[in-house]
Amino acid sequence: MLQVADVRKSYGPRAALNGVSLAVAPGEFVALLGPNGAGKSTLFQLLTGLFNADAGQVRVCGHDMRHEPVRALGRIGVVFQQMTLDLDLTVEANLLFHARLHGLGRREGHARIADALQRLGLTERARDRVRELSGGNRRKVELARALIHRPAVLLMDEATVGLDPASRRHLLDEVLALRTHGVAVLWASHLVDEAEAADRVIVLHKGRILAEGSPQALVDTTGADSLAAAFLQMTGGTDAAAVTAE
Ligand code: ADP
Repeated sequence: MLQVADVRKSYGPRAALNGVSLAVAPGEFVALLGPNGAGKSTLFQLLTGLFNADAGQVRVCGHDMRHEPVRALGRIGVVFQQMTLDLDLTVEANLLFHARLHGLGRREGHARIADALQRLGLTERARDRVRELSGGNRRKVELARALIHRPAVLLMDEATVGLDPASRRHLLDEVLALRTHGVAVLWASHLVDEAEAADRVIVLHKGRILAEGSPQALVDTTGADSLAAAFLQMTGGTDAAAVTAE
C-alpha cells in the first residue's frame, strides 16, 4: 500500500532523512518510533506531498507521489500533529467539507459522516461547534475526517500529543481496530508505549532506520527487558524523558 524507497531530504547541509526505505501492507499497523529530531515530521511531509524528496521514491497504492500526486494523495488519510479543524464550524460541517473535497455527493457524504460519528460515539455532537469539544473528541473528529474517503493508507503524525492518557488510549485503540478493515497505518510517535501493540516497529534516529521488527523481536535482539529499554539502548538514551513522559 505504502512504499518508501531510499528517500533523502536535507535542509541546507543538514540531512534530515538519509536513505529511508519502508513499506506498510494492508491491515498492518506500523509504529514509526523516533526521538525528537529523528526525521518523522520530515518523512510525513514527503508522504503527504508537501514537498518532494531530494532523492528516492514514495508510492501509494502504486502511484508515485512525484508523478501522480493527485492519485497518490487520494488514497491517503492523515491526522497531523497540529489540529486542523475549523473551530467555529460544527463537527458535521467540518466533515462535510472534506467529503465534498474528495468528490463525494451530499447524500453519500452525510451517510458516511453519520456512520463515522456513530462508530466513534459522537453522534450527539454532530451539530456542536468543534470549539465545544474536548481535545480527545476533536482528535476523534480528525480521525473520522481522515477516513471519510476510505483511504488505503492512514498516516498519524504524533496524533496523541496533548491528550490525557485515557483519550490517548482510546484513539490508539480506534486506529488499531482499523486493521480489520485492511487499512495500512503508519503511526509516528516518540512514546514507546504506543508502539507496544504495533505489528511492526521502525526505529528512526538521525534520519536513518536503526531497527525494524515486531516489538518482541526488538526486545530480543537488543537483549533489553522492555521495548522502552530497547529503544533507549538503540537511540543512545539521548531522549530519555521523551520516551516515557507526555
Ligand atoms: P521529528 O519529527 O522526528 O522530531 P523532524 O523531521 O522535525 O524530526 O526533524 C529532523 C531534522 O531536520 C532535525 O535535525 C531538525 O532540526 C531538522 N529540520 C526539520 N525541519 C527543518 C527546517 N524547516 N529547516 C531546517 N532544519 C529542519
